[in-house]
Amino acid sequence: MNSATIKKLFPFFNAGASTHPKPIYVDNAATTHKPQSVLDSIINFYTHQNANIHRGLYDLGEGATVLYEQARQKVAQFIHAKKNEEIIFTSGTTHGINFVAQTWGKQHIKKGDIILLSQAEHHANLLPWQQLAHETGAILDFITVDPVTYMFVDPLEKLSSRVKLVAITHESNVIGSIWQSESYLADFIAQAHQCGAHVLLDSAQRVSHQSINVQKLNADFLVFSGHKMYGPTGIGVLYIKEALHSHIPPYQKGGGMVHAVSYHHATWAPAPHKFEAGTPPIASAIGLGAAIDFLQPHLTVPDLALHEQNLTTLLIHYLNQNDTITILGQAHHNAHDQHLVSFSVNNVHAHDLASFLGTQGIAVRAGHLCAQPLINTLGLESVTRISFGIYNTIDDVVALCTAIDTGITLLQRLKS
Ligand code: PLP
Repeated sequence: MNSATIKKLFPFFNAGASTHPKPIYVDNAATTHKPQSVLDSIINFYTHQNANIHRGLYDLGEGATVLYEQARQKVAQFIHAKKNEEIIFTSGTTHGINFVAQTWGKQHIKKGDIILLSQAEHHANLLPWQQLAHETGAILDFITVDPVTYMFVDPLEKLSSRVKLVAITHESNVIGSIWQSESYLADFIAQAHQCGAHVLLDSAQRVSHQSINVQKLNADFLVFSGHKMYGPTGIGVLYIKEALHSHIPPYQKGGGMVHAVSYHHATWAPAPHKFEAGTPPIASAIGLGAAIDFLQPHLTVPDLALHEQNLTTLLIHYLNQNDTITILGQAHHNAHDQHLVSFSVNNVHAHDLASFLGTQGIAVRAGHLCAQPLINTLGLESVTRISFGIYNTIDDVVALCTAIDTGITLLQRLKS
């Protein structure tokens, strides 16, 4: 895979071609840049094809409907869903998790039931369950993260007949890969089902790095965001297994999701429409379809995962040369496909380092990364995170590491 050639497909990196230093963007776990093909698909829609969907009985309206439903089909094929109807468009991962908590969760979780999460959840997969637990009297339990190996500690031991839902990250936004393998995760899901639990997978950090097969995993719900996989913001996906559709009420109510309405009653259209009230983000869904067209060829062969692993290995090699740096989960990173690294530095606040790198045209993330309980459990308050994407190059890593060295020396000198 030639990442330098791929970078040229992204206007962001060409727009400032004459500026120096060239931007180095390694905050891909937060959001990714968009290739020209995604931008074109959106501009083309608004320029030539704009109309509302599932409403207009004229060519333009019917054409927009076809494009939107084609995007749904692309998503279904992308995650190997059995049916297009299992794909619900949302505004993002956060929306998808709140959707499940407030619909299926409110109907099926009762006082004393256990909602099983992990210590490594993003706030998006923690706060909706905290709220549901407060509302229902359910209990939250957490699979622990081993502070040395950074893998889950005996997840199977947490399963029991009291666990009604497992809502768990597919990949951590702080430490990356966290499951031993995809087949181990599938076995865990199978065991959860044996205990009578349903399973929601937060795949926000997985979806742009490795292909997902939701049928093999057999998750009941799976969520992700378009903007983390080279697509637009404002669009996300909630996969709901078909067998559950009739057990889940609509999240919101309004136009486009009814079968029949009288002044006092309404009946719902079948899924996915009953779950998509109002005008959906049509152009963004089409943009997500274009992002899948762009990304999918790189996921079906292991070249992207390999490329990101190589960049990660090189980064770790450099960081290890500075003994004031502590990498979160060093051993873990050596053993698994990775695309992100979080670290702390003696006597240097992560925000100061990130601000310094910002002055050098380098975008990294710093802070508690919306995973404050995990960061605190690891005995930290904040970390710096480098996360790679398809357009990052070895040159990016070299320039980044030189800047990290300079920044740390400068900031440590200021402190002494
Ligand atoms: N889950 C994980 C693991 C994430 O990393 C993020 C965002 O960083 C989210 C959920 C929330 O995604 P969004 O803000 O797109 O809804």
